[in-house]
Amino acid sequence: MLALVKTAPGPGLSLEQVPDPSPGINDVLIRVRKTGICGTDLHIDAWDAWAAKTIRPPLIAGHEFVGEVVEVGSNVHDTRPGDVVSGEGHVTCGLCRSCLAGRRHLCAHPVGLGVDRDGAFAEYVVLPQTNVWHHWEGIPEEVAAIYDPFGNAVHTALAFPVLGEDVLITGAGPIGLMAAAVVRHAGARYVVVSEPNPVRRELAMRMGATLAVDPRERDLADVQRELGMVEGFDVALEMSGAQAAIRAAMDNMAHGGSIAILGIPTAEITLDVNEIVFRLLTIRGIYGREMYETWYKATVMLQSGLDIAPAIAHRFGFRDHEAAFEAARSGDSGKVLLDWRV
Ligand code: NAD
Ligand code: ZN
Repeated sequence: MLALVKTAPGPGLSLEQVPDPSPGINDVLIRVRKTGICGTDLHIDAWDAWAAKTIRPPLIAGHEFVGEVVEVGSNVHDTRPGDVVSGEGHVTCGLCRSCLAGRRHLCAHPVGLGVDRDGAFAEYVVLPQTNVWHHWEGIPEEVAAIYDPFGNAVHTALAFPVLGEDVLITGAGPIGLMAAAVVRHAGARYVVVSEPNPVRRELAMRMGATLAVDPRERDLADVQRELGMVEGFDVALEMSGAQAAIRAAMDNMAHGGSIAILGIPTAEITLDVNEIVFRLLTIRGIYGREMYETWYKATVMLQSGLDIAPAIAHRFGFRDHEAAFEAARSGDSGKVLLDWRV
């Protein structure tokens, strides 16, 4: 089969002919239809410090996908050829305390699809049956392709109650954009998005933001005044990884406010713990998705009118992967998709 492979340490991914993967007795073999390009894939492509420390080539990248089951192992009874599925990208150990207690998102030893094991930028991918999500009728294929980052958005957006609350989202990449739509759907009053990129601010407004502001030009205290807010944001979703964004969020929280942090800073950052103590803030890290509560909630929200399609900006055939990666790198876009059938 053809796959996008990191063949050796260093920049770049190349389209290579590699052996088809074969499923073990508990595995499912999936013909990939569409994949999404994630920031993680850009790191792997660029071979930055994180990639050099984490990735052991040769490796097929990619973890956001939708595809069709073509073969199942002998122990697999509830998944059949023809099923349309996406993969939960964290393969959990099944043996640690959290896994045994059914809290698989807290697994002590997660293995990442397209990071620690061969991923989905390929014509075929293999996953354990317990990592497969069966799509319900009516979920558009493009939306199904990005259930993994959509799940990141849902997991973060629903980490704290938002009904009737004022929500700040820092960073309007694809995940911040989808989170804006989710908190709007979940009943937030004001949804303020802070994002330096004007194209993404525009997209944030289409996703249901009340206001989308440039943090270099507008102070959030000023935004609060414009909206008639007096005591600060009740909930903040940090989706940029930028130190300035975390600081700005902390400075603008209501007493007792909650901050969910999904964004991954590239270096250690400092926070004033006094702010957390004296304003009684709750800060919670979010990693991946809850298996499979997040996937369920994502699906039923789509069924009840949530629309995340505007977050999808570009579509390419897999042979044009270089142009697709360039579009994703530019940052002037929402999600970039690769089609693996053309
Ligand atoms: P992205 O890089 O496309 O988006 C980040 C956005 O933040 C960009 O649009 C950027 O312009 C904006 N930004 C930069 N500085 C800012 C500032 N000071 N204030 C406000 N916005 C600022 O990323 P994405 O794919 O949408 O992912 C969002 C974040 O979540 C990234 O940091 C990513 O690494 C991380 N992530 C975490 C998990 C997890 O499980 N925790 C999973 C996927 C992605
Ligand atoms: Zn585990």
